[in-house]
Amino acid sequence: MSKSTEVLRICEEKGIRMIDFKMTDLNGRWRHITIPVERFDEEIFTQGIGFDGSNYGYAPVEKSDMVFIPDPETAVVDPFTEIPTLTMCGDVCVIGKENKPFDQYPRNVSLRAIQYMKEQGIADQMLIGPEFEFHLFDNVSYMVEPQRMAFTVDTRQAAWNSGRESADNKGFLVPGGGGYHIAAPQDTAYTLRSRMCMMLQEWGVDVKYHHHEVGGSGQMEIEVELGDMVDMADKTMIIKYVIHNAAVQAGRTATFMPKPIYKEAGNGMHVHMLLLKDGEPVFYDEDGYSGLSKTAHYFIGGLLKHVPSLCAFTNPSTNSFKRLVPGYEAPVTIGYATSNRSAVIRIPAYAKTPKAKRFELRNPDATANPYYAYAAILMAGLDGIQNQIDPEKHGWGPFDCNLYDLPEEEKAKIQSLPKTLEEALHALEADHEYLTAGGVFPERLIEIWLKKKRAESRELSQIPHPAEFQRYFDL
Ligand code: GLN
Ligand code: MG
Ligand code: MG
Ligand code: MG
Repeated sequence: MSKSTEVLRICEEKGIRMIDFKMTDLNGRWRHITIPVERFDEEIFTQGIGFDGSNYGYAPVEKSDMVFIPDPETAVVDPFTEIPTLTMCGDVCVIGKENKPFDQYPRNVSLRAIQYMKEQGIADQMLIGPEFEFHLFDNVSYMVEPQRMAFTVDTRQAAWNSGRESADNKGFLVPGGGGYHIAAPQDTAYTLRSRMCMMLQEWGVDVKYHHHEVGGSGQMEIEVELGDMVDMADKTMIIKYVIHNAAVQAGRTATFMPKPIYKEAGNGMHVHMLLLKDGEPVFYDEDGYSGLSKTAHYFIGGLLKHVPSLCAFTNPSTNSFKRLVPGYEAPVTIGYATSNRSAVIRIPAYAKTPKAKRFELRNPDATANPYYAYAAILMAGLDGIQNQIDPEKHGWGPFDCNLYDLPEEEKAKIQSLPKTLEEALHALEADHEYLTAGGVFPERLIEIWLKKKRAESRELSQIPHPAEFQRYFDL
């Protein structure tokens, strides 16, 4: 059966009127283009659909024609459109005599990383389990400040409206910092979170659980079961889309911004991971520290060695570094340990069986483009295995103490994570051979990323900030 026959059968069955194609831009946002179902035929899978890549952050204007080839395997009915719509993800090609996969397209980068891992004979599968923390606000007002300041979200007010003084919770306040797993009536978002999870299940995402998070101001979390890396990157896009749109449907606003509110818990996207070879776990050894094999230790060594530059992809916003501060269960130092939420790598004590044995990287946040972030994580770990980087020998742990509370002289001995986006970009400039190995990250992509992110960071540092008005206006 041809690809279009199967798609058209679904369209017929579900009364579909529009076919929608979703593509990921450089920053990790979905964009889409739509055709009437009557226009849809087999050609779309060979000729694709042309678009202007320069507006996606990819190509210079003079070479901006690109083509999108949908993957029928990803077809689902979009639950948010009023008009019945079937939506598909796919791959992007550059146009030539023969169309060639565009090497910077995020999905192609993560596919190449998996390919590279297989070629090195290290493993043939990487399983990834991201955790999604986000804030739900009732009211987000944008204030345009005088002197043509940028707009800012009035998060304080939004927070109070949402978690603490929600009209429907009869005055039961979520105690600041005490929201972790809090039940109704303080948890006013149970129905909405459940609806999000039901939509995700329908879309093929296996939800592990959902709950209220630590932050008193409407902080939430949805965790999903581990899955194949590239598929999980696709699913990360789906999850964020569902969370954003289900919130809007319910008259609320969701944000994954790493630190929307000063002095409250921020939003991380911890990433659990493990490798399999011929279906067998590579990370388990019952005699190793915390049940981890030598290979897992080297993988951790690679992550910890490269984590400053890795942050340029896993924490790629200026706001990312406002989250990585002491006191909020977000990591600040480079180290690993069992059960330790102040370390950048935590080995969950509850994952005991060989198949479940894994660790989580805690610095990433959801402002990352998931395809680049997961591919970069894998490349850092593979470099650790290839070069047998032993984290213990480098003084990166294991740390079984609260790293926030160490005496200053002890703290001084431990390396810190980058404190700004600038620092992370500086690290990336100096350390990216592990990413470009085997052509996985094209050099050109690293150059573009450095240039764009540096411009972004410079621009944001030049914008007068509301807090500056508070401190300096009357001086
Ligand atoms: N919100 C914390 C972070 O920023 C994590 C808290 C938790 O999951 N217990 O990483
Ligand atoms: Mg969690
Ligand atoms: Mg959490
Ligand atoms: Mg976690």
